[in-house]
Amino acid sequence: MERLSLVAIGDEVLCGHTVNTNASTVALACTKIGRAPISHTVVGDDVVEMEKILRRELALGGDVIAFGGLGPTGDDRTREVISKIFETPLVLRKEYAKELELRFGKEYPTIKNQAAQPEKAKLLTNSVGTAPGLFLEDKNLFPMARLFVLPGPPYEFQDVFGREVLPLLGKGKCIASVWLSFIGAAEHEVNASLERVQALFPTLHYGIYPSYETVSVHLFHEDEALVQKARASCLVEFQGLLLPEGVPSLEAFCLALLGKLGWTMATAESCTGGAIAARMCSVSGASAVFCGSVVAYTESTKVRVLAVPEQVIKKFDVVSTQVTEHMAENVRTLMGTDVALAVSGYFGPTGGTKKAPLGTVCATLLLPESTVSQTFFFHGSRASICAQTVGALLALVCKTLVLAQCKKSS
Ligand code: ATP
Repeated sequence: MERLSLVAIGDEVLCGHTVNTNASTVALACTKIGRAPISHTVVGDDVVEMEKILRRELALGGDVIAFGGLGPTGDDRTREVISKIFETPLVLRKEYAKELELRFGKEYPTIKNQAAQPEKAKLLTNSVGTAPGLFLEDKNLFPMARLFVLPGPPYEFQDVFGREVLPLLGKGKCIASVWLSFIGAAEHEVNASLERVQALFPTLHYGIYPSYETVSVHLFHEDEALVQKARASCLVEFQGLLLPEGVPSLEAFCLALLGKLGWTMATAESCTGGAIAARMCSVSGASAVFCGSVVAYTESTKVRVLAVPEQVIKKFDVVSTQVTEHMAENVRTLMGTDVALAVSGYFGPTGGTKKAPLGTVCATLLLPESTVSQTFFFHGSRASICAQTVGALLALVCKTLVLAQCKKSS
């Protein structure tokens, strides 16, 4: 398969200020057509380093897709480096200047700059910005390579890539692949199962990607039938709860399960500040089953709005399952739902008590005929504990609703 490499250009990407979404856009699209990139380099706007990296990739051959630094500002140096590498001057491309005048008006300040392009380059239309993409090929200098250069802003990048570059890449040999996402699983358990699967299919490739919500497994191989067999034995080896295919997130799964059970749900959230409700509301159509949330952050709000008895808070701590049980019961009554989830915790970096030290999170999930209360202990920054809490509670809701559904249908 012909080599494909990516080069992201720009100090802002190199220093981490800008998340390199262009790389992920192009890698996903190219993998789909069987041309998964073999390497991905990030280089700053430094002309010497940029030249080194681009020469290296062009010498290795295949298609090189570079992006960033085509604009008109002083820190955009990509055109000058490409001109040097391909031994072609930057010249005023009159036909392109005319095109820009028609699109942006004669007086547009950057026309002259943006119409100065490497003489040998084919210009690739950018219908949403002024910097065109570039295509260069030189059989004498780089006999085996083609270079595509695209503008950095993601909307311009996508415009040029989708229309001008993707059709020229050609299809490679597609690798069959499946993704399995296990909810609330432990990475080491999934890994142990996968090692047994690989013993059955020694040529299978796989990757394991843990997050606070799921452990995702990627199985891939050139042989589709082998991937499907490996998938089946993976499900036998690891019997954790699987996020169904086509369901993009835990919240989408929760809402689908609630719909199937014919139940509605509300949340009462303290430390998460409505983050669980926000996840639910991010799914279109959520209002069919998700009724709302009370963000009861302070003790007095828990008492006044959710009628949590003050003596319960005093006796057990505001972070206790006794408090979340009251919160859940009362939000369920307030909103008239079938299901309610309540959460209270100490996220830090300060706070916590003897009974409930920093990182303690208590939650209650009320179903029509059962109650689950659980205490978690998390470590990390405030943001990380919040993310862990949201992930763990969405997983808890999914698991509990799946059990309820099994019970109902048995
Ligand atoms: P411009 O005409 O805007 O200068 P350009 O081709 O010179 O376009 P850059 O200057 O490198 O592009 O980047 C412009 C903006 O595009 C950056 O500030 C950044 O927000 C975004 N950007 C650049 N590279 C990437 C990337 N790899 N992934 C996501 N966004 C990017």
